[in-house]
Parts: sequence; C-alpha cells; structure tokens
Amino acid sequence: MIPVTKPFLPAETEFDNYVKSIWERQWLTNNGPLVNTLELKLKEYLGVNHLLFVSNGTVALQLAIRALNLSGEIITTPFSFVATTSSIVWQGCTPVFTDIDPETFNIDPAKIEAAITPKTSAILATHVFGNPCDITAIQKIADKYGLKVIYDAAHCFGTFYNNRSVFEYGDISTTSFHSTKLFHTIEGGAVFTQDPELLRKMALMRNFGYSGVDSFSEAGINAKNCEFHAAMGLCNLRHADEILKKRKYLSEQYMLRLSNLDVKFQKLENKQDYNYAYFPVLFNTEDLMNESKAKLELAQIYCRRYFYPSLSSLPYVNKVEMPVCDSIASRIVCLPLYHTLTLPDLDLICRLLLRVQNFDDKGQHKKNHFGSAIADKIELEINEKNGTI
Ligand SMILES: *Cc1c(COP(=O)(O)O)cnc(C)c1O
Repeated sequence: MIPVTKPFLPAETEFDNYVKSIWERQWLTNNGPLVNTLELKLKEYLGVNHLLFVSNGTVALQLAIRALNLSGEIITTPFSFVATTSSIVWQGCTPVFTDIDPETFNIDPAKIEAAITPKTSAILATHVFGNPCDITAIQKIADKYGLKVIYDAAHCFGTFYNNRSVFEYGDISTTSFHSTKLFHTIEGGAVFTQDPELLRKMALMRNFGYSGVDSFSEAGINAKNCEFHAAMGLCNLRHADEILKKRKYLSEQYMLRLSNLDVKFQKLENKQDYNYAYFPVLFNTEDLMNESKAKLELAQIYCRRYFYPSLSSLPYVNKVEMPVCDSIASRIVCLPLYHTLTLPDLDLICRLLLRVQNFDDKGQHKKNHFGSAIADKIELEINEKNGTI
C-alpha cells in the first residue's frame, strides 16, 4: 500500500533520549525547557526573528485573527484547507472569497479589490502547497485600503520569498507542524510576526492571558504546546535538511517521468526557494482525474483530492461561484510524497498514470505516444508488480 503521505519519524532512540530527560525534570508542559529550545532552534533554522510555538495550525490562525482584533469581512481564498475558512467563521468574521490564479493556485491579487467593502478588515491568504502568494501585490492592496494581512503558511516550512523566510511576511503568518506536514511536532503550529506588540499579545493569549502571579491582562486561551511535542520537533529539526532534499529529489523524479503526461503542474514562484511540500497534478477533466485515481487505487496507491471541495461551497458560508477554483478543485490531486517513498514505487505510480492516458479499457492505445514494444514492457512490469491488473 502506498499512502499519499507518511509522517517522518526519527530513530526511536533519538526520541527516547528526550523522553528520559523529561522524566528526570518532571516538567511536562507550561513553557518548559524543550519548548524553549525548540523555539530558539526553529528561529535559527528558519532565519526568523520571532515565533511562538502553539498547539496546532488552526489555533495559530484563530490567535492571529483575534490578536489583530479583526471584525466584519475577511477576504480569503476558496482553495485551501478547511481550517483557513473555519477559523474566520469561528472568530465571528465573514469570509469573502476571491478566486485564484489558474497557474499558481494562490489567491489572484487582481481580483481582490473588487471584493473590498467598508466592512473589510483583512486579507487571509494561503501559500498553496508551499508556493508563495504574490506577496508584493497583496501588500500594496492592503496598504492602499488599510487592511491587515495574515498568511496561512501551513505548507511553507523551508520556503523563502525574496531571500527571507516566507514566514516573515504579512502582519502575522501562521504555520502547522501537524504530522502530515513536511516538518512536524506530531501536533503543533506557530505564529510569526515582526511587530513586538502583536508578539507580546499573542504570547499572553497563548497562555490564558496570564501576565504574572494572579494577574490576567488579556482574554486568553490555552494555545500552548508541551515538552513531548517539542521533543519530536527537536528530533525532526535535525533531519530537516535531509527531508527537504529528499522531497526535492522525489519531485524531480516525478517531473522527469511525467513530462509526457497530459496534465498541468503548479507554476512555482521560485523553484530555488521552494520546499516541495506536495506534488499536485492537474488533469484536463474531472473524469480523467477520477479514472487515474481509480487506477492507482486498484494498485493500492492512494493520492488525495487536495483541496476539494472548494471552500466557497462549505455549508456555513455564503455560497458563491468561484469558476477558476471550482474547476481546479474538481481536477487536482496530490500524488504520494514522503521521505521513505521509494523510486520503484514512484516509477509504478508514474507508469500507471501514463497507462490511463495512453490505453483504453481494452488495452488499446488511445494515442500513439509509445511504440508497442514499450507499451508491452509497461504492461508486463505492472502485471508482475500487481496481479490484480
Ligand atoms: C494543515 C493545515 C492547517 C491546519 O493545521 P493543523 O495543525 O492541522 O491545525 C491550516 N491550513 C492549511 C493550509 C493546512 O494545510
């Protein structure tokens, strides 16, 4: 079975050593030494000035919206994970969707201004699959209309924009360290800001608004994380370079093998500074996507419709048509991509995808991309690998 993702796991002994130290100190949570160390090491690794380690990426978004005192309408993308929209609604604000760019899959800055009303307080955009938004254009609009900017940078560990960590942009950036993400702390997340006042506020809010013995200066929440999750983060951080390198390698291998497949790939802002967090492929039709996905599933290979459905179709928002997003969400899947994905498995995935496109149900060529000798070889290899096909 090949799943769409597998969490990175360090050697058990690496984690055990941290666990032993937790036992010795008997300090489990509440801003413990491992949480502090992880925050320091993350700052170093990412090259950022400030960050706060929090319990997950969703709470990070909620803290950001709350810390900026946002109200009314927040302009956002319909093409993201559900937490981007649900956090807006959870904080009592109204999401106003703006369609996405058909090539980068990020919010289209050219469409933002038309969505601004006197009630608009902010723009909340996602750097989709780790590919940065047009930050310069978005900031220009925000400045012109006096709006705050939050980036959901949940996919962005290791991504840079203009030679700075992408986490340093916007009034606040948030990220997720969930197990499915490239760098993880089992559950976890972080908020980033360059504004010392906002940082102080979020630090208080993360811990019940507790500002000293018997004193509470903000309405806070419990958004802190614990020593065990920090321990996993410290282990994984040591492997971060290796994880990033491996994903890049695997993505390049996909690209090489799929260059003849009639699909589109995400247009990247800058390949140099990209983290290869996902490997999305956009089919020409939903039928082709479904056919390809089903073919892979027969071989117990699971890709994921990500993101699907479009967030503008959620039952608790004002439904609006987002033609570009609706179309892309219906045709896109992310292929398996994780640290331990083997080259033979990646080969198999690619061959199956090419096969769907080139052969019909009866095994006849749909197009004559290959000579029949190659086609026969592919058939043979697939049959050997999996008796069900
Ligand atoms: C994973 C993810 C989140 C939520 O993060 P959690 O840590 O799972 O709460 C939010 N936004 C995006 C785009 C994500 O991919």
